[in-house]
Amino acid sequence: MVEFCVLGSGSRGNSVFLRVNGYSFLFDCGLSCKQIENRLNEIGVLPSSIDAVFLSHEHSDHVKSVHTFVKRYKVPLITSEKTYKASGLYDRGVKDVFFVNSGKTFSKFKGIDVFFMPISHDAADPVGFVVYSEDTKFALVTDIGYPTELVAHELKDCNALVVEANHDPQMLKMGTYPWELKQRIASRKGHLSNGDCAKLVERVVSDKTEYVVLAHLSEENNTPDIALLTVSRIVKGMDCNVKVAAQDSPTPVFRLNAYTVD
Ligand SMILES: [Zn+2]
Ligand SMILES: [Zn+2]
Repeated sequence: MVEFCVLGSGSRGNSVFLRVNGYSFLFDCGLSCKQIENRLNEIGVLPSSIDAVFLSHEHSDHVKSVHTFVKRYKVPLITSEKTYKASGLYDRGVKDVFFVNSGKTFSKFKGIDVFFMPISHDAADPVGFVVYSEDTKFALVTDIGYPTELVAHELKDCNALVVEANHDPQMLKMGTYPWELKQRIASRKGHLSNGDCAKLVERVVSDKTEYVVLAHLSEENNTPDIALLTVSRIVKGMDCNVKVAAQDSPTPVFRLNAYTVD
């Protein structure tokens, strides 16, 4: 059985919970440890039941409480060596670490294989995650300037996809952010717009895809309605639910029907 929940997502912090056949994982701990504990409790999950934490990159909205969480609950951290170094986690006492190079798969760990998918973003070694279990494929990718061919290829036929829909380009253009920040967000190493998210979703969804959850929405340059409208059009007529993750509250726990991956 596979279940997931976006505990929170946005520029003030990101964390995703995934449970596969009784094992529980967190992807990024960018909220405070207290918030993560509270939101896990809210969905009926004991923080002490987490089996490992995966870290995508060193930006504070992803790494904030990784050191507190992994030490408090004595769980291993799984990340790339470059991200570990860039995060300063050694100095913060995080020693129980498995290193996985981007482009490689962390195999046969508690019933899952996790592909560390390289992405285009302004960090040391940023990745998205594609998680394979016996009969499902779950993917999580935010903080991408643009989707590379590799990303579009790897995300195909997911049962569930958590994907960035960061901004509406018009809102970004007209908004109050300084010019340099606007440039950074819109660049090929920045964040994915709603339109580019929709184009990516169009390329990767199939009749296997039960959920597309839009994540990392900008509070200043996007609204849940605009993001939802832009991406929902793509899956019209398909048996696929499009949802939006919020910054300050967890999504429902989404449970996947165990389709067979061919
Ligand atoms: Zn980032
Ligand atoms: Zn981020």
